[in-house]
Amino acid sequence: MIRHLKAGLILLLAFQWPQLSAWQAEDPAAYVHPLAAAMSCYDLHYYDIALRVDHKSTYLEGQLTMQFSVRSEMDSLVLELQDGLEVDAAGIASRAAYPAFEDVELRRYGDVMSIVLPESLAAGEMAWARISYKGDAGRSSGFFAGISNAKDRRWGFDVTYTLSEPQNAKDWLPVKQILADKIDSLSMHLECDQGLMAGSNGVLTGVEETGRNTLIYHWESRYPIAYYLISFAVADYRMLSFNARCGEGDSVLVQSFIYNLDDAQIQQEADIRVTAELIRLFSEKLTPYPFADEKYGYCQAPMGGGMEHQTMTTIDNFGFYLVAHELAHQWFGDHVTCGNWQDIWINEGFASYMEYVAGQELQGQADADEWMNNAMSLAKAEKLGSVFVPEDGVEHTSRLFNYGLSYKKGAILLHMIRYRLNSDSLFFHILASYLQDFGGGVASGEEFSAFLEAESGLDFKDFFKEWYYGEGYPQFELKWVQRGDSLHIYSEQSGTAPNVTPFFHTDFDIELLFEDGRTERIRLLQDQPCIEHALKVNGIVSSITFDPDGWLLKRATVIALLPGERPYAFGPNPVRDEMRIRFFNQASIDEIQLTGMGGKEIIHIGDAANPCIIDLSSLPNGPYILLLKNNAEAYQEKIIKISPR
Ligand SMILES: [Zn+2]
Repeated sequence: MIRHLKAGLILLLAFQWPQLSAWQAEDPAAYVHPLAAAMSCYDLHYYDIALRVDHKSTYLEGQLTMQFSVRSEMDSLVLELQDGLEVDAAGIASRAAYPAFEDVELRRYGDVMSIVLPESLAAGEMAWARISYKGDAGRSSGFFAGISNAKDRRWGFDVTYTLSEPQNAKDWLPVKQILADKIDSLSMHLECDQGLMAGSNGVLTGVEETGRNTLIYHWESRYPIAYYLISFAVADYRMLSFNARCGEGDSVLVQSFIYNLDDAQIQQEADIRVTAELIRLFSEKLTPYPFADEKYGYCQAPMGGGMEHQTMTTIDNFGFYLVAHELAHQWFGDHVTCGNWQDIWINEGFASYMEYVAGQELQGQADADEWMNNAMSLAKAEKLGSVFVPEDGVEHTSRLFNYGLSYKKGAILLHMIRYRLNSDSLFFHILASYLQDFGGGVASGEEFSAFLEAESGLDFKDFFKEWYYGEGYPQFELKWVQRGDSLHIYSEQSGTAPNVTPFFHTDFDIELLFEDGRTERIRLLQDQPCIEHALKVNGIVSSITFDPDGWLLKRATVIALLPGERPYAFGPNPVRDEMRIRFFNQASIDEIQLTGMGGKEIIHIGDAANPCIIDLSSLPNGPYILLLKNNAEAYQEKIIKISPR
C-alpha cells in the first residue's frame, strides 16, 4: 500500500507520534489483537459475500456466508462488524444440515458480535454461518476508511471502494481480523446498476442480468487470502485486458477496471501495459506470479495512492513506481503476509525494495539510484524509531505506515542484506526460496532472519538487533593519512539514537583514488566504535570515498590528515586545571606522560581511556612536556600551566 501525502501532512503525522524512542530494543512486546483469544477456537475456510453496491453511496445490503472449522470447543462465534450496520438475521448450519440454516441469537457489543450457537461445536467439526446485514457502511473518512465513496477530480467519475488495511474490514464485512487465519477461498457477488461494473478478487466467472436493471458480477478466488486483502470497487468502468508472461511458458491475464473514457487515456493505457513487463521481471527475479491461475488487475479509484488487494489492486494512477510497488505486494504482502502488524516490514519493506529492483532492470541504474537516494533521505530523517513497529504503534496508522521507517528504511535493510551477501544471485535465490516456503501463509521478521541465516550460512543476529529492532543509523568519521607506503585509516562510528542503538556492526567499502588515476576498492569491517587499519598501498593516495556505491544508510565524513599532522587533539593550552587529550578513532591511548622541563616524570598513565582527562590543577605554574605514545608512535608537546581562576 502506498499513500501519497503532501509535505505538510507528513509533518503533522510526525508530531502525532512523539514517543518513538520510548520503546527499548531489549524487550519488544508483542501486539495481540484484543479478540485473538475469543477467535482462536475456529479457522476460516470459505467466504461467500453477496452485496448490493453503488458508485455514489457507501450503502450496502447483502449477506456473508462463511464456512469454518472448530479448533477447540466453542459456544459462540465471535466476529467483528461495525455497529453502524444493521444485522437482519444470523444463522448457523452444521455440515450435515447445510444449506439449511437455523436462526440464532446474535449479541452485539460495539463492533464485536457474538453468534450464540444452538449447541456447542466440538473440535474438528465443520460448520457454516450466515449473516444478513445492511446500512450505510461509510462511517469513517480518510485514507484508512474501510469503505469510501469519492469523485475522481481529474476524470469526474464516482467510485465506491474498500480499503480494509490494517483493521478496517469490519467497516463493511463481518470478519475475523487475524492475519494468520487466511481464508482458503472466496466468492464475491456484487450487484450494481446496469451501466456500472464491480471489480473484485480472483476470476470474473460471469456477469448476470437480474431482470431488475441490475447486474451481478461474480468473482471466484481459490488462493488463501488475508481478511484485509478482500475488496471491491464499483464505478462506471470499462475493461482493459491483456496477457503477461509470468514464468517459463506461462502467462497470466491482466484484467483492469478503468474509468470508462476513451480519448485522454492513451498515455494511461501505455502506463498500465508496463504491468506486463513488471510481471515478467518479478516472475524471473523471484518466483512465477503467485496467482497465475486467476489474474492480476486494477480497479481505478481516487484514493491518493494504491492498495494491493489480492489479484486486484485498487489504484489512483499508473506511475511506474506505484505500479511496481503494488504488483510486488502480490509476492510480498499477499502471497506471504506479515503475521503480526508489528512486522509490516514483511509487506512494505519488501514491496518498496522491489520498486528499486524494477527501476534497476527497467528504468536504468541512474533512475534507480535516484530512487535510492530519495529513500535514503527519507530514512535518514527518522533519527529515532525502529523498522519493527512497537506494540503501541500498531493502533496508530501514522506509526504503522511510517513512510521513512516501514517503507524506505525497510527497503534499505534489504539493500544492505544484498550488500552483505555480496552476491545478487544468492540474494534473489534466498528471496525465491523464502516465497516458496512461506507462500500462502504468514511470516515474521524473526522468521525471515532465521531463514536468511540458514540459507546464507551467515550470522545476521547483530544486523537484525541493530537495524530491525534497533533505532537510527550510524554516523561515520573516517580520517586517513599516508606515511610512505602505509595508509592509516581511522574510522569512528556513533548512532543517531545512541541510547537504544549506540553501534552498528557494519561492513563498508572505501575507494582509494591514486594520484596516477588508478582506483582501488577495499571492504572493511567496523566491529567496534573505533577501528584502525594500516594498509600497504602502492602509490600516492589523493582521496578516499566512503561507501562509493551508496549501499549503507549512514552519514559519513572523510577527513584527510596531513602527514605531519597530529592524529590527536589536546587542550586547553595554557591549562588552568583539566586537560583533555583525544586520539582520533582510537579506543584507548597507550601511554601519557607529563615531565618537567628537566625530564623528571610527574604523571604517567598507561593504557589510558580515549579521550583522557588529566587534572593538572595542583601543579606549580610553568612549562611542562607532554609525551604521548600510541600505535608505536611517540609525540611530544610543550604545555604551560597557569593559575586557576
Ligand atoms: Zn505497500
